[in-house]
Amino acid sequence: MKSEKKRLKRLGSLNITLWKYFCFFAVFIILLIGIICYVIVSNSFLGFMQDKIRSVGFSVTDRLLEAMSMNPAVAYSEMDEYIVEQAMKNNMNIAVLTPEGNVVLPVEEHINDNERDYWLEVRGAVSEKLDDSENGIAIFSEGSVFTYAAKTPFAAMPASDNYLVVRYSLDIANNTMSAVQRYMIIVGVFAILIAFLIAYSLSQRVSDPLKSLTATANKMAKGNYDVKFASAEYQEIAQLSDALNYACAEIKKTDGFQKELLANVSHDLRTPLTMIKAYASMIKEISGDNREKREQHLQVIIDEADRLTGLVNDVLNVSKIRSDINQINKKVFNLTEFLYGIMKKFEYLRDMQGYTFMVDIDPDTYTCADEEKIGQVLYNLISNAVNYTGDDKTVYVSLKRDPGRGRVKFKVRDTGRGIAKEDLPVIWDRYYRVKERHARPVKGSGLGLSIVKAILERHSFDFGADSELGKGSEFWVDFPEVPAELPEKSDTGQN
Ligand code: ADP
Repeated sequence: MKSEKKRLKRLGSLNITLWKYFCFFAVFIILLIGIICYVIVSNSFLGFMQDKIRSVGFSVTDRLLEAMSMNPAVAYSEMDEYIVEQAMKNNMNIAVLTPEGNVVLPVEEHINDNERDYWLEVRGAVSEKLDDSENGIAIFSEGSVFTYAAKTPFAAMPASDNYLVVRYSLDIANNTMSAVQRYMIIVGVFAILIAFLIAYSLSQRVSDPLKSLTATANKMAKGNYDVKFASAEYQEIAQLSDALNYACAEIKKTDGFQKELLANVSHDLRTPLTMIKAYASMIKEISGDNREKREQHLQVIIDEADRLTGLVNDVLNVSKIRSDINQINKKVFNLTEFLYGIMKKFEYLRDMQGYTFMVDIDPDTYTCADEEKIGQVLYNLISNAVNYTGDDKTVYVSLKRDPGRGRVKFKVRDTGRGIAKEDLPVIWDRYYRVKERHARPVKGSGLGLSIVKAILERHSFDFGADSELGKGSEFWVDFPEVPAELPEKSDTGQN
C-alpha cells in the first residue's frame, strides 16, 4: 500500500501536469507575441519617423524656393510663420542657418538663447555632412537624433549658401515606445493570469471525469456492481466509461453466476455426501454381515458417488463453456459416425443395467459445427433420456436426413414421466431442477440443458423438446446437412 502511494506520488498528477504544460504554453505564446509586437512596432516607428523628417524637410525646402520669387519682406515673415508652425506640429526643431551657425529663421522673436546655442552646436556637424553630400541634401542620425539638412539659396537671406536644418529627437519616440512597452507588460501579465486560470479550468475538465471514473471503479472494486460510470463530454473518456460499464455488467453477471453456482453446488454436494456417509455407517453397523443388504447399500453409495462425479463434471463443463462459448471452431464432420461414437459410451448401461437403445440412424450424414461441443450436446441429451426414462429402460435415438430442407434431425426420446407443458420452456434455464419442489431427480446438476442451449444458440441451430406427462419426452436438434467434401471452415467471432 505504501509503495503504491509512493509510486503514485512519483507518477505525478495529470491535472497538475496538464496545468503546467498549459501555463508554459500560454506564457510562451504571450511572450512571443509581445516580442514580435515590440520589434514590429519599434521598427515601423523608426521607419515612419525617417519618412516624416524627410517629407517635412522637402516641404520646407519647396516653400523656401517658392518664397524666393516673393517680395523679400513678405517671404521672410511667411517662411517664419511656416517654419514655426511645422516645428510645433511635428515636434521637430526647424531652422535656416548661416554657414556660421547664426539663425536666420525663425525670426529673433521666436527663438531664445538656448535654442540659438543649440543651433550653433548643430552647425558643425551639418556643414560637414552637407559638404560631403553630392546633391546638397544630407539625412543622418547622431545618437537618438535624426537630422535633415539642405543647402538653400533663399534670396531673403544675408548670404546665399545658407542651409535648412530639420531635426527630430528620438527621445520623444523612445518615451512613447517605453509607454507602449509598459502597457504591453501590464497587458501581458493580465493575459498570463487569465491564461493560468483558463489552463487550470481546462486541466480540471480533462482530469475531473477521470477522477470520477476512478472513484466509481473503486466502488466497483469493493463489490458494488450497481455503479454507473458517468459518460463525459470527450469521446475517448466516453468510450472508456462505456467499456467500464460493459465490464461492470459482465463482472456482475459472472459474480451472480458464481454465487448461484456456489449455492447450488454446495446444496447438491451435501445430499449425496450425507447419503454416502449414512449408508457407509449402515454397512458398518447393520448390514456388514448381510450380503444382500450390504450389496444394496453399497449400490446406493456407488450411485451417489456417480451423482457427485456427474455434478462435478457439469460444473467444470459449465465454467469451461462460459469461458470459451464464443470460441466456436466449426468443421465438417460425419455426424452419423460421431453419433455412433457417443452411443458407445452408453454401452455399459445396456450391458450392465439392462437399458435398451432403439436406434434409427441414417448413414453418412455430414454437418458443419464444433465437433467437441456438439459431442457435449448429444451426450447430455442422451444421458437425460437415460436418467429420466421409464421402467422399460428404453431410449429411442434417431438421426434422419431431410433432403428437402437440407437438414439432418437428431431426436432422442424416452418413456419416462415427461415434462409439464408450463415447465418445457424453463428446463433450459440453469438450475431449473433445483427450483423443482418435488421428487429429487435421479442424477444431474440442473446444468446440462443450459449447456446444450448455450452451445446450440452459439451455432444458431434450431432445437427443442416435446413432451407429454406420463408418456415421455423427446428432445431434438436440427443440424444443417453439408456435402462431405466441403472444405473446413473456422468461425471464432462473436454473433
Ligand atoms: P439435470 O442435470 O438435472 O438433468 P438438465 O439441465 O439436464 O439437468 O435438465 C433440467 C431438468 O429438465 C431436469 O432436472 C429435469 O427436471 C428436466 N428434464 C431434462 N431432460 C428430461 C427428460 N428426458 N425427461 C424428463 N425431464 C427431463
